[in-house]
Amino acid sequence: MPDPNGFLRYNRRLPARRPVPVRISDWREVYPPAGEELVREQATRCMDCGIPFCHDGCPLGNRIPDWNDLVRTGSWDAAVDSLHATNNFPEFTGRLCPAPCEAACVLGIGGGAPVTIKQVEVEIADAAVARGGLDPHPAAAPTGRSVAVVGSGPAGLAAAQQLARAGHAVTVYERDDAIGGLLRYGIPDFKLEKQHIDRRIAQLAAEGVRFRTGVNVGVDVTAEQLREAHDAVLLACGALQGRDTPETPGRELRGVHQAMTHLVAANRVVAAAGGGRPALAVLPDGTPIDAAGKHVVIIGGGDTAADCLGVAHRQGAAGVHQLDLYPEPPHSRDAGRDPWPTWPWILRNYPAHEEGGDRVFAAAVQEFVDDGTGQVKSVRIAEVTVEKRDGRRIVTPLPGSERELPADLVLLAIGFEGTERQPLLEQFGVARNARGAIDARPDWQTDADGVFVAGDMHRGASLIVWAIAEGRAAAAAIHAYLGGVGELPAPVDPARQPLAAR
Ligand SMILES: Cc1cc2nc3c(=O)[nH]c(=O)nc-3n(C[C@H](O)[C@H](O)[C@H](O)COP(=O)(O)OP(=O)(O)OC[C@H]3O[C@@H](n4cnc5c(N)ncnc54)[C@H](O)[C@@H]3O)c2cc1C
Ligand code: SF4
Repeated sequence: MPDPNGFLRYNRRLPARRPVPVRISDWREVYPPAGEELVREQATRCMDCGIPFCHDGCPLGNRIPDWNDLVRTGSWDAAVDSLHATNNFPEFTGRLCPAPCEAACVLGIGGGAPVTIKQVEVEIADAAVARGGLDPHPAAAPTGRSVAVVGSGPAGLAAAQQLARAGHAVTVYERDDAIGGLLRYGIPDFKLEKQHIDRRIAQLAAEGVRFRTGVNVGVDVTAEQLREAHDAVLLACGALQGRDTPETPGRELRGVHQAMTHLVAANRVVAAAGGGRPALAVLPDGTPIDAAGKHVVIIGGGDTAADCLGVAHRQGAAGVHQLDLYPEPPHSRDAGRDPWPTWPWILRNYPAHEEGGDRVFAAAVQEFVDDGTGQVKSVRIAEVTVEKRDGRRIVTPLPGSERELPADLVLLAIGFEGTERQPLLEQFGVARNARGAIDARPDWQTDADGVFVAGDMHRGASLIVWAIAEGRAAAAAIHAYLGGVGELPAPVDPARQPLAAR
């Protein structure tokens, strides 16, 4: 029986982050472990509401009140089992999820302080490792059916694990040199150290999943070859088509890059320094993958922009500006616009923002300015207003508001336009929709029979928690398609959307 008064006795508390001067001198994760006493205290704040809205906030349907109570009583092994029953990789979500569950926590009504659900989750996930709880769970018997999973991000890996545990022979094809999708080289180590991915790969391999890296499906292996070799195919190729701004004067200058070009290269340098594969020191245009001593301008306000900011600090940038097209959001929930338990539009401060840099809101670049040698030296920006007209975004500069910011390195983190245009799509006979995503029927099949889709490739650029949820659900559909015995859990259907008021 949970403690109904826990939230009255304890305030919401999170462990202190590592001090800024210390953490920007290395690439280790920002948060130290919370310690058992703090985690149990915070889990005690959960009152196990009659209707736990956090379940609906979490796309995985994590049994949050159950494991909060198990942590409260120190029943760690049971908490690990409860969490793994709905989430294949809680060490990823516990570190990286923006926690829509917390926005839906009953304790947050009227501006209150929700339970630290995400923190409890990561502590359970880490307890699983510490207690040897990542043992493989191989299937009792093989089904004789085989599945190809294309793409090794969280969607592909979650599906692969579910299918292998159900007895299917699963091969994951990944064009990159390492498994993990965006978790591997997209998300920096200070948010997710890579041993967490390696541990899961070892677990999946011990469960029978085969991994083939360096295989670009559609180029190195054709869709036809894949379909001949397997009974079903899951496409989980992500939404990696970066949005650009070709119309802005000066876009062609040296030093102006897509954020992911710089970020992935920088993360590869970190991986190489830690004993990984050798990495390039310069980009193909000769630009060093280093912000040291440079004035950096990051354009965009999301996860990618914040990750670029943290990387720039660690590389020793002279100064960083982060530009956002939109005005500064409110600092707390505007209940008229986003009533509880929906995900509110508020100012999100990532740990990288504590580390320095200037945020400039309601501003847009008018020109990337040449230093006379073809290298960017500054950006000319203007204050802007943004409105939607006929579904289109209209950005209007305010006359007389222009100014220049110094810029030796400009990173475009202005979003993604869906899954990449690549040969695989045509070969499988699937087409990008208006959002650049691949549609799924209610049973997760694409327009091509026996070819399924999940994760960002289906949803558009989203979150790890959605990728895992879709990977699990697509695995359940594939299991049914292959005539597997019983049902696998399917936390979401393809039409499921986040909680919203409209
Ligand atoms: C910089 C950045 C930071 C982020 N931070 C967060 C965060 O903090 N929290 C959060 O919840 N979400 C975050 N996200 C979003 C999150 O990473 C994605 O939603 C998630 O990784 C999507 O998983 P996925 O499996 O669908 O695809 P991905 O992780 O994109 O993986 C797709 C994989 O498919 C492979 N692939 C593509 N085509 C082929 C082919 N033809 N053959 C073989 N392989 C192929 C790719 O190489 C890639 O490895 C971030 C995203 C970015 C870009
Ligand atoms: S996965 Fe995300 S939404 Fe679900 S319980 Fe964990 S932090 Fe909350």
